[in-house]
Amino acid sequence: ARKAGRGEQRLFDDDMNAAAKDALMIDGALRGALAAGEFYLVYQAITNAHTGKLTKVEALLRWNSSLLGPVTPDRFIPVAEDSGMIVELGTWVLEQACRQAGRWKQSVLDDVTISINVSAWQLADPAFVTLVSQALISNGLSPHQLELELTERVLIDDAIHVQTVLAQLRALGVGISLDDFGTGYSSLSYLTQFHLNTLKIDRAFVMDIEHSERSNSLVHAIIAMGHSLGLQLVAEGVETAGQASILEKMGCHYLQGYHISRPISPELLLQFADGRAGA
Ligand code: C2E
Ligand code: CA
Ligand code: CA
Ligand code: CA
Repeated sequence: ARKAGRGEQRLFDDDMNAAAKDALMIDGALRGALAAGEFYLVYQAITNAHTGKLTKVEALLRWNSSLLGPVTPDRFIPVAEDSGMIVELGTWVLEQACRQAGRWKQSVLDDVTISINVSAWQLADPAFVTLVSQALISNGLSPHQLELELTERVLIDDAIHVQTVLAQLRALGVGISLDDFGTGYSSLSYLTQFHLNTLKIDRAFVMDIEHSERSNSLVHAIIAMGHSLGLQLVAEGVETAGQASILEKMGCHYLQGYHISRPISPELLLQFADGRAGA
């Protein structure tokens, strides 16, 4: 690499400092935030590409910090991962999302599947499988109503241990979804090595599907591969009717994105589902 000039180096240092300071500030504010009730979940609809029926919802974490104001997950999740706080936070998400699904039992959402994002640290926690089964039981949920979204990062961390945990979760009947597919380390061997049942095609590919031949062929190939491996496919980041229609024709099973709905409160999601009940 070429040597940076003195000015560039200073800019670089400033950037580093700014990022480090931001992380430090967030880390400080995170302590106590859970106990103070500063977190809540929003829910994003995932619909059947063919019928439009609302089948799943993804729970997404939100933080309204008393010190910093609203902080986006892209800023605080990495900090919570670094400190290990993500385990406690992730447990809260699991319990909260399952409680919500329990509350939806008497509604049009009685059989909805809740997807939650799970970090590598949580899977490494020996208590994880027990926490999952307790959350299901105490809220009267059937295991197929819970799906755990993992990234490829999780799979490479400690492959043998992860394989065991995923096998236990699949034995419970819980769904396992591979998130952001195509962006990470993307070894195709993951697809058969782990007990997955769903692939989520990353927004980066879906975004260009109408205009880029490359993205279009790539998504096409992912869908074909998913079909032949017996996996369910979810396209994320669907923002236009054109994208939705292309994906449906390609045989993608489920759609998620602003074209269908933004992440919203449980109350609004219920209204949304009511509106689609006939779909
Ligand atoms: P993700 O799991 O890939 O979640 C999808 C992200 O895309 C969400 O961002 C969602 O709001 C956004 N999104 C959905 N549809 C569209 C669309 O059509 N267009 C665009 N531009 N964006 C769309 P969000 O809520 O900011 O979450 C960001 C990331 O933070 C998530 O990415 C996930 O990796 C992480 N995250 C969120 N909640 C949790 C959680 O409870 N636990 C963990 N470990 N990570 C979480
Ligand atoms: Ca996700
Ligand atoms: Ca994703
Ligand atoms: Ca993502």
